[in-house]
Amino acid sequence: MINNLAYIVACVLFIMGIKKLGKPDTARRGNFLSALGMLIAVVASFFENEVVQSWNTDNWMQNGYVWALLAVAIGSIIGLLWSKKVKMTGMPELVAIYNGFGGLASFLVAFTQFLRYPSGTETFVAISITLTIFTGAITFTGSMLAWGKLSEKITGRAIVFKGQKAINLLLVLVAIAMIVIFAIPGLDDAVRLVSVLVLSGISLIFGLTLVLPIGGGDMPVVISLLNSLSGIAVAMAGFIIANTVLIVAGALVGASGLMLTLIMCKAMNRSIKNLLFSGFGSTNTASSKGEGVEPKSVSAEDAYLILEAAQSVVFIPGYGMAVAQAQHVVKELAEKLEASGVEVSFVIHPVAGRMPGHMNVLLAEADIPYEQLKTMDEMNPSMPLQDVAIVIGANDVVNPAAETDETSPIYGMPIIKAHEARTVFVLKRGKGKGFSGIENELFGMQNTLMIYGDAKATISSLANEFTND
Ligand code: NDP
Repeated sequence: MINNLAYIVACVLFIMGIKKLGKPDTARRGNFLSALGMLIAVVASFFENEVVQSWNTDNWMQNGYVWALLAVAIGSIIGLLWSKKVKMTGMPELVAIYNGFGGLASFLVAFTQFLRYPSGTETFVAISITLTIFTGAITFTGSMLAWGKLSEKITGRAIVFKGQKAINLLLVLVAIAMIVIFAIPGLDDAVRLVSVLVLSGISLIFGLTLVLPIGGGDMPVVISLLNSLSGIAVAMAGFIIANTVLIVAGALVGASGLMLTLIMCKAMNRSIKNLLFSGFGSTNTASSKGEGVEPKSVSAEDAYLILEAAQSVVFIPGYGMAVAQAQHVVKELAEKLEASGVEVSFVIHPVAGRMPGHMNVLLAEADIPYEQLKTMDEMNPSMPLQDVAIVIGANDVVNPAAETDETSPIYGMPIIKAHEARTVFVLKRGKGKGFSGIENELFGMQNTLMIYGDAKATISSLANEFTND
């Protein structure tokens, strides 16, 4: 009774938390509320009947508290150390691993429940068990592969081979057959065991074959999709053990992950089907446009002269700003520009950086006012009116090839139209390519001036020029 009440409180906190996560200024509080909800849910689970009854057992190996506390201790230590160590740019990898472990946990709950009742349970629970095994296993291996790709332990590109789609279809058909067989009432124990083992193996393989052909700029979307799948697996596990909080939390993660996936697909002008089955990023050939045109470069001192005469300046941050940790000096420069009467704005691409909201987080950290932050759709129409666009370590999200070059792997992805500004400064260290590994014709355009060097150092130099003036 008490733990059910606690579960309801936890669910309410999750819902409030997720709502607050939708806005940058309330996101921290949202995170805290969700974490508090999770703490309450974990403590409440200690008062579940089966755990309480295990207290009096003579054998400590069968005491639920021993195992639960051990798991909490190990998990907390690993989580604490890992999240302290992780760099902001490594967040997507961490999210991928968390998704994977979420899937593995659900898979293990389902498998354990099968081992406890090998001769069968009611049909609803049997179907929940197999669906949890299916979704949990796909999430686990798919996320591990995504982690390997993002952390560059293996190639980040799409890996495609002949017959891939046919293999995937075959795996899904066999998995469905196993799920149906397992649900047949009164089935022989040996057949049940075989069906659950085959299903587990196939689902683990399917997670790999599903993520293998996805690469390049599509990785963030697949992480979001796997996040959604991990939520569905958790909700299914909740049905198996009749645990309300798992069902609610899983459904929230499943739905919000799916919504984020759809938003990101829209931002990249792609459908989920196209994303999963087209082998994006498999091409090694760089877009031919942009190659051979030698970009013009200027020093920060010369760039200052142009900046000084500007009336409107738009900052376009990208992954390089995160690497350089330039957000604070960017704020300093923005303030100096404003003080000299320049209209300043920031435009954020939905997939700039290496995780959804990456640029929002960094700019919020530097206390840049929310009203100066514009979306791509808000800013693009007025881009030709901007005197200067300062591209800070962004590359793919400002690559005009996405609009002009049908052979480009990023063709169709909406971009920030930096090239339409009167003058474009591109801040980067050298000839490094973006995440998609393709050339950028923006760098060779008439109105583009490259300012080579670490973005933080370059922005500092520009800001210092204003001070010295
Ligand atoms: P890109 O990855 O396209 O480009 C980053 C650029 O930053 C590079 O060209 C690099 O050039 C430059 N750079 C790196 N370090 C520095 C530094 N210290 N100072 C100055 N410049 C630096 O970034 P974008 O933000 O434009 O695009 C993001 C890409 O990542 C997209 O393809 C997106 O799909 C993908 N992605 C996005 C995720 C998300 O959720 N947001 C997650 C995973 C991938 P150089 O080496 O010459 O300095």
